[in-house]
Amino acid sequence: MQEERKTLEQREQMTDIERLRHSASHVLATAILKIWPEAQFAAGPPVENGFYYDVDLPHRISPEDFEKIEAEMKKEIKENHPFERMEVSRDEALELGKKGRLAALSERDQPSKFKIDIIENIPPNEKISLYRNGDFIDLCAGPHVMRTGNIGAFRLTNVASAYYKGDEKNPQLQRVYGTAFKTKKELDDYFAMIEEAKKRDHRKLGKELELFVFDDDVGPGLPMFLPRGAVIAEELEKLAKETEFAAGYQRVRTPHIARESLYKKSGHLPYYAESMFPPMQVLEEEATRKRIELQARIDDLQRRINTEILLPYEELQQKTDKENQSTLLQAAAALTDTINLEAKLQQLGDRYYLKAMNCPHHHKLFAALPRSYRDLPLRLAEYGTDYRYEKSGELFGLMRVRSLQMNDAHLYMTPEQFEAEFNAVNEMYLNYFKLFGIEKYLMRFSTHDPAMLGEKFVDEPELWKQTEEMTRNVLKNSGINYIEVPNEAAFYGPKIDVQAWSVIGREFSIATNQVDFAQPRRFDLRYKDRDNVDKIPLCIHRAPLGTHERFIGFLIEHYAGNFPLWLSPEQVRILTIGDDPKLIDYARSILKELRAHQVRAEIDESSDKINGKIQRAEQMKVHTMFVIGKRDLEADAVSVRVHGKGNLGAKPRGEVIAEILSAIRERRA
Ligand SMILES: [Zn+2]
Ligand SMILES: [Zn+2]
Repeated sequence: MQEERKTLEQREQMTDIERLRHSASHVLATAILKIWPEAQFAAGPPVENGFYYDVDLPHRISPEDFEKIEAEMKKEIKENHPFERMEVSRDEALELGKKGRLAALSERDQPSKFKIDIIENIPPNEKISLYRNGDFIDLCAGPHVMRTGNIGAFRLTNVASAYYKGDEKNPQLQRVYGTAFKTKKELDDYFAMIEEAKKRDHRKLGKELELFVFDDDVGPGLPMFLPRGAVIAEELEKLAKETEFAAGYQRVRTPHIARESLYKKSGHLPYYAESMFPPMQVLEEEATRKRIELQARIDDLQRRINTEILLPYEELQQKTDKENQSTLLQAAAALTDTINLEAKLQQLGDRYYLKAMNCPHHHKLFAALPRSYRDLPLRLAEYGTDYRYEKSGELFGLMRVRSLQMNDAHLYMTPEQFEAEFNAVNEMYLNYFKLFGIEKYLMRFSTHDPAMLGEKFVDEPELWKQTEEMTRNVLKNSGINYIEVPNEAAFYGPKIDVQAWSVIGREFSIATNQVDFAQPRRFDLRYKDRDNVDKIPLCIHRAPLGTHERFIGFLIEHYAGNFPLWLSPEQVRILTIGDDPKLIDYARSILKELRAHQVRAEIDESSDKINGKIQRAEQMKVHTMFVIGKRDLEADAVSVRVHGKGNLGAKPRGEVIAEILSAIRERRA
C-alpha cells in the first residue's frame, strides 16, 4: 500500500484535535532525539485516535522505553516552546537535509535521508516550510497548535514496524504510536472506554454467557447459536414480525438455493460472483449418463497421453525429430480435447447457488400473481438466511460472517406511494433505535452523479431525480440526523446506510435502506395501473435490524451482556434457601406458573449455600432472581433480586409475577 502525502487542501481541513496530535508527533521526535540523537525520521501524521512517527534507529524501541520517552516529551511540553513556521527555498531545505539538520536537534554527520527524499517529491509549485519547537527543526507543511504547552495530555501506546512509504522494497522503520487530548480527563475517558470495550467484546461475552460458538468442522464464519443465543434471535424475530405485521407487511418463505439463471437475471452473476459460494452442479438421469460418457472419453485421452505420447526418454531419443514433432502435436491435440471435454462436463445438468441475498426470490414472488395498483404497496418480509463468501482474513466474530439471517423485506409500490412508504420505513428504524436505547446514529444518504449515468448508475435521469428528491424530503421533514454523500449510490438507486454507536461509543454499520428502480425492470415486474396500462413498480429494500449475527453482536456489546428482561436468555432463576421438600414444592409451583406464561425461568434447588447460588446466577447475568426461604413460603411471597440492582425485598407472589409479565410484554428497558 502506497501512503499518499497529504495535499495542502487536506492539511487546511485538519481538525483541532488532529493539529494537536500532529504537534504531539513533533514532540515525540524531539524526545526520541534527546535520547538517541542519531534517529532518522520519516513521516509523522495524525491518525484516527492518535498519531505516530516513523523512525529509523538501531535501538529497538519497546514499550519499556515509553516511560523514558514520555518523560522527555513532558519536559518539552512544560518548556512551552512556540511552533515557529519558516519558509525556505528548495535548495535551502536540501542543504539543511544534507547537514542532517531536518528532524533533528542540531547538525549531524548523517544526512536526513528520508526528509531529503520527501523534499525531492514535493511538487515544484508547492512552498516548502519548516517548523521549529525549541532545538527541533522538522520539514513540515503544518498545521500545528501554537505552543508545545497546548498539548494537554498524551500517552504512547504502541510500537510496530512499517516500511518507508508503505512499500516493502523500502527500509523497515519503527512506528511509534501515541494519542493526545486537550485535557487529562479526555485522555482518561478514552482509555477507560477502550478498557470497557475489551470487557464488552462480543466474542468474549459470547463465550462466557454461552450464546454462540464456532466449530472447525462446521467451518469458519459459520456461527452456531447455543440455546441462550438462539433465544435472543427468536425474540428479535418476534419483535420484527409484530412490528412488520402492524405495518402491513406479509411474510413469505423461500429456499436457500436457486438456479444460476436467477442470478444471471438479477445481474448478481457475474458481478457479485466473488462474494457468493461456488455453485453446486446437480445432474439428473440423462445428464448422469452423459457425464459417464464424457468422463470415459477424458480417461481414454489421458491414458493415451500417458502411454502412447509421453514416452520414456530413451524411447524418444531413438526417434527422429520428425517423429518427435508429430508426438508433440498429438499431445497438444489430446490436451485441447481434454480441456474441451472438461468444460462440457462442467456445463452438464443444473447449477445452483446458495443465495447471498433474498431480493431475486422475492421479485419472483411478486411476479407469481397478476398484480394491480390495488395490491400495492405490497410488502414481502422474510428473515432470510443468506450465505456470503467473505475472505477468511476478513471474518470477525459475529460481525463478519459467511452465514447470515437478515431482517429483510421488499416493498413494491407506485411512484406516488414512494414518499409515504419510505417515511414509514424510516419511522420503523427510529422506533427500533428508541427501543434499544441507541441514542447516537447517523444516516448516510448516498446519491448518484449525473455525469456517471449509464456507467456507474442506471441510466434513468428522471427516476434518479424524483426518488432522490423524495428521499431527501423525507429525511429533512423527519428531523433525522443525516449526511448526503454524492456519487456513492447503489447501481440501481439511492441508498441510505445507517451507522449507530453503542453506549460506549463503538461504531457499527447496522443496516441499509435502498431504493431500486432497476431490478423490477430486469425481472419484468408489472402491475396494472388505474388506466389499465402495465407499469413497473418501484422497490425498497430494507433491513432495519440488519442480520441476527451482526445485530446480536452489537447488542451484546451495547448492553455488556446485561440484556433487558424481554431479551434475557434466562429471565428468572428461582433460588431456594436450603432444600426443605416443602420449599422445593413451592419453588417448583412458581416455576410452573412462570413457564405457563412463556417466561424463560430456571430453578436452582441444589443444596448449595444461597450465596453460592446467587453468585452463579449473577455470573450468567440472569436478569431476575427469586430468592425463596421459609418466610416467603409462609407468606406466599418471593424475595426479588435483580442483576446489577441487588435485593429489592419480598413481595406477594402474584404481584411479582404480574410485574414480570408486563415488563416482558412492554419490552421495557
Ligand atoms: Zn508538523
Ligand atoms: Zn434486497
